[in-house]
Amino acid sequence: MHADVTAVTRRESGFEVTLSDGRVTRARRLLVTTGLVDELPDVPGLRARWGRDVLHCPYCHGWEVRDRAIGVLASGPMSVHQALLFRQWSADVTFFTHTAPAPAAEQAEQLVARGVRVVDGEVTAVEIVDDRLTGVRLSNGGTIAREALVVAPRMVARAGFLAALGLRAVEHPAGVGEHIPADATGRTDVPGVWVAGNVTDPAAQVGAAAAAGAAAAAQINADLVAEETRRAVDAYRERFPARSQARVPEPVEGDPRCGV
Ligand SMILES: Cc1cc2nc3c(=O)[nH]c(=O)nc-3n(C[C@H](O)[C@H](O)[C@H](O)COP(=O)(O)OP(=O)(O)OC[C@H]3O[C@@H](n4cnc5c(N)ncnc54)[C@H](O)[C@@H]3O)c2cc1C
Repeated sequence: MHADVTAVTRRESGFEVTLSDGRVTRARRLLVTTGLVDELPDVPGLRARWGRDVLHCPYCHGWEVRDRAIGVLASGPMSVHQALLFRQWSADVTFFTHTAPAPAAEQAEQLVARGVRVVDGEVTAVEIVDDRLTGVRLSNGGTIAREALVVAPRMVARAGFLAALGLRAVEHPAGVGEHIPADATGRTDVPGVWVAGNVTDPAAQVGAAAAAGAAAAAQINADLVAEETRRAVDAYRERFPARSQARVPEPVEGDPRCGV
């Protein structure tokens, strides 16, 4: 079914899922894989370059910007780490403190030791020429030439429709945004609801997100099997109370009433 989920409601037998085109569908379990929203730093011109020459991840984009003039905008708790990661790809990395406090002494020493230049002052705009990022403008009026700018978006789980089930995004322990917490199998605190991928793990790349989805699906299948088995046992005990009390279940070969 191709449509956005706009609401999810718990029903006795599971969930009712309302879609943006008005259709309503039902499910006994939910696997939510709606990803996240990257909230970008509010710098004029920056948003339009996202995923092109405004970047965040060295594993996604590092090769494309190797040996280029890279800027890193201090915009999150991992920004110094980002600068050190991108330093693996280029000897020309500049760290812009922007609106963040200056790096702590230990981090400042790391940046200097790795040859990363630190520039103070707010970045007020991204310079674009011929559809390419050419630099960043500073509040003192100066411009520093750069070919790529690394930012740390705040990553917020896209799962507002889960609030009706009592499931809300909470601050991620790494301070990088908000996620839906879950155990290692993707099971949330709300019975019947699993999550996988960026909606719960903002660091998951495509491979990890897909693997988490497959693992959660297997858990959901196991949960459904357990539920169906419980129901079958209840029905069996109701039909054959004497056998059930003796706890010696006898096979009922080919009996359609038992679903075998
Ligand atoms: C600029 C950029 C570059 C990247 N490059 C790479 C890379 O090179 N390699 C790599 O491995 N990873 C890369 N990533 C990370 C990669 O995008 C994620 O790891 C991956 O997309 C996570 O998959 P997901 O299924 O969790 O979420 P998503 O891929 O975001 O999928 C979520 C889906 O849910 C849908 N959805 C959202 N809300 C609703 C709703 N209410 N109802 C119905 N559907 C809904 C969305 O339309 C979307 O299709 C990059 C990320 C960015 C931002």
